[in-house]
Amino acid sequence: MPAFEKITPPSDGEPIAIEKGKLRVPNQPIIPRIIGDGIGRDISKAAKMVFDAAVEKAYGGERRIAWFDVHAGEAAMPVYGNALPEDTVKAIREYVVAIKGPLTTPIGGGIRSLNVAFRQILDLYACVRPVRYFEGVPSPVKRPEQMNVIIFRENTEDVYAGIEYRQGTLEAKKVIDFLNIDMKAKIREDSGVGIKPISGFGTKRLVKKAIRHAIDHKLPSVTLVHKGNIMKFTEGAFRDWGYEVARTDMRAPCVTEREWGVLDLKSRKPKLSVEEMAKDLVEGGWEPYTKEEIEAALGLEKTHGGAELKGKIIVKDRIADSMFQQILLRPSEYAVFATPNLNGDYLSDACAAQVGGLGMAPGANIGDFMALFEATHGTAPKYADLDRVNPGSLILSGVMMLEYLGWQEAADRIVKAIEKTIQQKFVTYDLERQMQGATKVSCSGFGKKIVENL
Ligand code: NAP
Repeated sequence: MPAFEKITPPSDGEPIAIEKGKLRVPNQPIIPRIIGDGIGRDISKAAKMVFDAAVEKAYGGERRIAWFDVHAGEAAMPVYGNALPEDTVKAIREYVVAIKGPLTTPIGGGIRSLNVAFRQILDLYACVRPVRYFEGVPSPVKRPEQMNVIIFRENTEDVYAGIEYRQGTLEAKKVIDFLNIDMKAKIREDSGVGIKPISGFGTKRLVKKAIRHAIDHKLPSVTLVHKGNIMKFTEGAFRDWGYEVARTDMRAPCVTEREWGVLDLKSRKPKLSVEEMAKDLVEGGWEPYTKEEIEAALGLEKTHGGAELKGKIIVKDRIADSMFQQILLRPSEYAVFATPNLNGDYLSDACAAQVGGLGMAPGANIGDFMALFEATHGTAPKYADLDRVNPGSLILSGVMMLEYLGWQEAADRIVKAIEKTIQQKFVTYDLERQMQGATKVSCSGFGKKIVENL
């Protein structure tokens, strides 16, 4: 058992192990839990009640989570004098899977954000956010049920890498001088500057994870979302590396959208020459193809053409601005997104807004095995300890966690119970204020109704 400075793991649980490239989950896994600041205290209580009841119902006492309360944020300060104690990082590393409520980043504490720090220290390189509709939840769009996507957002690079210099500092001057003098750029002297690193390594492992998810869940497509028309060597490279993954490591299950265009045409009109195909494709609305591009796609016919084509995952790309329009107008055409850090941040909130907002938006930060599940909203301090807010985000993050453990039955029970509770119109204030004839319940009241409906 690892040695901790100020916390003791539960004696009645076992650690999750990684064996032969897979998680081995015991029947009583030790799961570190960060309650969180502000409304974290309200939602963590309600969510734990739901998780424990669902596991008990699903497995009749054979399985149970051995919770291990660890500290971060405001709650850690009186114990450690530090918002991000080593004990907490060590516990998550040791026990592999953990869950957290929202955290306040102490002002002037030298940390940009605790959440970003967790992701970087533990190399939790994919921020995974599923977005789906629960019937009855108020939505600003006409067909919210068409939204059912999962976003894989790169979590360690891009502008979040934190390389930024304040206007007027020596550091900013050095960078600006280097760019202006050595690189012949034209940066205004009074600028603040930031760096946006996007690497092949970071992109490829993220895109692989997204494609792996599409394979495991039999989803039809993975969309790379980028702004490569402007940022060619960062976001454009993200797109190119994403396609490279689809064409190399993940070749067997994947077809790119443009390869799909050629192979689909070939199966519909097998007698066309390459030149006739090029003409037909442009008439069908595709950007012009070169002869070499068509020939390369036809080279895949044996493995990816004809009847095979139907079962392949289509890897496509969309420019970020157009993506925001598409997700509003044609959400059903998208299943899995792989995005650089900033695009994913924007896109996940925009998608969540279409199906009920942040109160119902779950998320997880996942590395190669380690996973930290979390409510995606903040600490909403004005509602703290009032037992008022919606615990849905954290409960659904717990659903993701149960699925990650392979405890699908407990996860499914919670989802069905949430659906039923919303259909019965027992909802917290955030949903009640937009619904006709709903009964407003407290945070714990919502949790209790879900438990009744398990
Ligand atoms: P916030 O805490 O997410 O709250 C903004 C608003 O969102 C709330 O006033 C409320 O809207 C609504 N909301 C959030 N959670 C809700 C829930 N569970 N149920 C119902 N409504 C909910 O954002 P913030 O006020 O900008 O940030 C506050 C603090 O949280 C900051 O210190 C920030 O750094 C931190 N933060 C932490 C995380 C994290 O730990 N993952 C993420 C974001 C922000 P109404 O007022 O309309 O009811």
